Amino acid sequence: MSQTTAFSGSLFMVVAPSGAGKSTLVNALLAQEPAIRLSISTTTRPPRPGEEHGREYYFTTAEDFVARAAAGEFLEWAEVHGNYYGTSRILVEREMAAGTDILLEIDWQGARQVRKQFPRTAGIFILPPSIDALEERLNKRGQDSQHVIARRLLAAGGEIAHAPEFEYVIINEEFTVALSQLSAIVGATRCRFAQQAARNASLFAQLGIHAE
Ligand code: 5GP
Repeated sequence: MSQTTAFSGSLFMVVAPSGAGKSTLVNALLAQEPAIRLSISTTTRPPRPGEEHGREYYFTTAEDFVARAAAGEFLEWAEVHGNYYGTSRILVEREMAAGTDILLEIDWQGARQVRKQFPRTAGIFILPPSIDALEERLNKRGQDSQHVIARRLLAAGGEIAHAPEFEYVIINEEFTVALSQLSAIVGATRCRFAQQAARNASLFAQLGIHAE
């Protein structure tokens, strides 16, 4: 399905290397903006301690994932750090058609696929303030083995190389500043002409405003 004004919800995607503080920022945004729905991805990665099926992710097997990808169930999917991750197509399309704003926490490969299908997606890249800060945050998390951390640090460079593909960049040095920037991007995206026209179709018609 291509993006038309039938989708009155806005689509946001937040991308960052592991350790840039993306999840903390996104969770704080969602606490401020309960109208935004976070898309829960499906993954073949094993759950980390404390993670719950249906809350952080839907956890599944590689066999099931591959079958569902082949059936076109994912709006986008990618292999990241040796595991598969995918976004439910039906959830995103249904919610956006109903006017709900959706936020995707995905990687750069997924972002490319989403952009092709939803060109108006607001793409936001989160950068760490330094490479040292990135390493420190990965170590502090303490949920992954040294091997996994080393692999993610190496991958961070690869992810960061794709920052130029994004409309917006936030440097997560001061948390409150980064959060207010993220919130400002959300506000500005909702005020784009196409989003306002889709959300307020009868007002626009009443005022005689017609999209180009
Ligand atoms: P983690 O295993 O640390 O939760 O996530 C690892 C990476 O996978 C992160 O960069 C995260 O954004 C990405 N990721 C999570 N869900 C998806 C998804 O549905 N699609 C894609 N392409 N990447 C995802």
